[in-house]
Order: sequence, then structure tokens, then C-alpha cells
Amino acid sequence: MRRRFGSQNGLRVLDEGRQVVHGLLPEYVFGPVDSRRYGKSLGVNPFPLGEKICSFNCPYCECGWTNKHWVGKHNEILWPSLVTLLDEIESRLKKAREQGEQIDAITFAGNGEPTLYPEFGELIEGTLALRKKWVPAARVIVLTNASELHRTDIREALLKVDETCMKLDAVSPEVVRAINKPHSSLSMDSLISLMQAFPSPVIQTMFVHGPSDNTGEKEIALWIAALIRIHPVRVDLYSIDRAAPDPRVSRVPAETLQAIADRVRREVGVPVLFINSSYGQKKPVKGVGVTGRVLRGGFLRWVCGLRIRGIESEALRLSTHKNELPGEE
Ligand code: SF4
Repeated sequence: MRRRFGSQNGLRVLDEGRQVVHGLLPEYVFGPVDSRRYGKSLGVNPFPLGEKICSFNCPYCECGWTNKHWVGKHNEILWPSLVTLLDEIESRLKKAREQGEQIDAITFAGNGEPTLYPEFGELIEGTLALRKKWVPAARVIVLTNASELHRTDIREALLKVDETCMKLDAVSPEVVRAINKPHSSLSMDSLISLMQAFPSPVIQTMFVHGPSDNTGEKEIALWIAALIRIHPVRVDLYSIDRAAPDPRVSRVPAETLQAIADRVRREVGVPVLFINSSYGQKKPVKGVGVTGRVLRGGFLRWVCGLRIRGIESEALRLSTHKNELPGEE
């Protein structure tokens, strides 16, 4: 039987004092949270409150199990209106400006796949205008599983934001079925072709052990081959950072992530970022692994430069994070 997971609200304080997104978010705009990748990040959750709507049903998803397993546009439920979402974003940005609060990023993530929001293009347009008005230095980020990338309106919207971070956890149909449980209409091969055609995507991959294990040699070799095809500007590696809806899912050790990261750098030739967590460990791990450097401590902020396709990227601010965005498991 599937247990009820995080149905109360989406922010929880762990024993060690960290606040994490866990379960369904109870609001459309949340944070800013201390994102491991994006700094002070204001989250936008464009879903009807109380619903988890996604084209995937990943057994590690911090929002819990998907209850609307959808692709495409669906209007049969009450989505938050565009006006409501933009009003909430604006009032939060206005408050941040008035209070001198730092906002480094506005990130679309939340209780599911954000590109399923029926007016996603308009939402991005409106947010970009608000960013220009209130926080011109902030970046606009979308975390997506790429399942709507075949739609022209979605591709056009994603091309306007500063970073589109796409999920690629596995390639072979059997492992994809286990780790992502995609909608039956989706094929990972088609999604990889769409990612390949998209300019400058970031790829993020969750590695887990358990029934949906994606760390076997055969799967890693297929995944590396897909990365070579896509040639992303960066690859972000994770393992779980909190309890998963499927209790059999477990964390991959930092040493394994490090070995995978080294292999991507060597065989794909793109920057890799991987982030350790202390979830499920008796002692905290040594820190965050980025370009070979290791720091330790309770809440250290990292600044590192990454070379992306020959161009020095802007500094990525990372931390051992106090709280997290959905999609940044
Ligand atoms: S992790 Fe992302 S893609 Fe997977 S079910 Fe959760 S929201 Fe959907």
C-alpha cells in the first residue's frame, strides 16, 4: 500500500535543523530558500494547492506520489490563474526590495512538472517583466523533466529563461520505468532527441540505489552516450537528501557520485557539479564536490567558477543548504 507522503505541507525542519521541501507545497510562491545551485531562490509552484501533477511519478520525489499523471494541456481542474500567480510573485518581489532581502533566482518548480501549467508561456513572460522591474540581477530558472519539450510554445518559453535544467535519470526503458514511471505516451529516446535539439540545456540526474537503481555499468554507459548526444552546458548530479515516497529507495554514496562525475568530465567533456548530503548517514559527509574542491562545515557558502564551452560562466553559489527547492532532491 502506498503510504500518504507529506500531505500536510511542503516545508519541514529536520532533526539537524535544516528546513527542506517535503510533501506538497501549500503556497504558489515560497521562500526564498537557500538553493544549493541558485543561491537565494524564490520558488514558483504553479499548481492547484493539494495536487501533485506530473508526467512522471518518480519514487524519490520529495512532493510524494503523483496523483494526476498527465501530459499536455488539461483544463478540467482549477489551476491558479495567471493573474493570481503574477500578483503573488510581484508582491513577494516588492516586499524583498522594500526589506533589502536578497533574491538571486526565481525558480519554477513545485508540486509537479511546471510546463504542464496551461499558460506557461504567459507565466514566463510575466515573470521576466517582473524580474526586470524588481530584481534585474536575479536569474529565472526552470526545472523540468522535458516531457512537454515537443510543444513549440513550451520551447519558446524555455528559450527566454536564464537556465533550463532538464532531468535525465536513465535511458534504458526498464530503468526509466522504475526510476521515473513516465506517462505511457512518453519515450525517453524522443525526450533525449528534444534535449539534444535544445540550445544549452543543463542536465540533472538523480542517482539512487534500490529497485530503481540507475548506477549499474550498462545504464551509466547508456547515460554517458546520451550526454554526448545532448552536450549540455553542465551536468548536475545528486542523490536523495530526504526520505523518499518509496522507502526502498536509498542514497548513493558520495564516492560513487564522484566517480561518475569524473567519468562525465573525461568522456563528455562538460562541467559537472555534484552535491553531497548527510541524509541517511551517521556522520556528515565532507562537503560539496564541485570541480574537485571539498569544503566542510554547517552552512558554508561556495563560490566557484566553471568553464562552460570555453566561456567562463558566472559564479555558481552553492551551499551545504539550509533548505531546498523541489526538484533539487
Ligand atoms: S521528481 Fe520531478 S519529474 Fe519526478 S515526479 Fe517529482 S516533480 Fe515529477
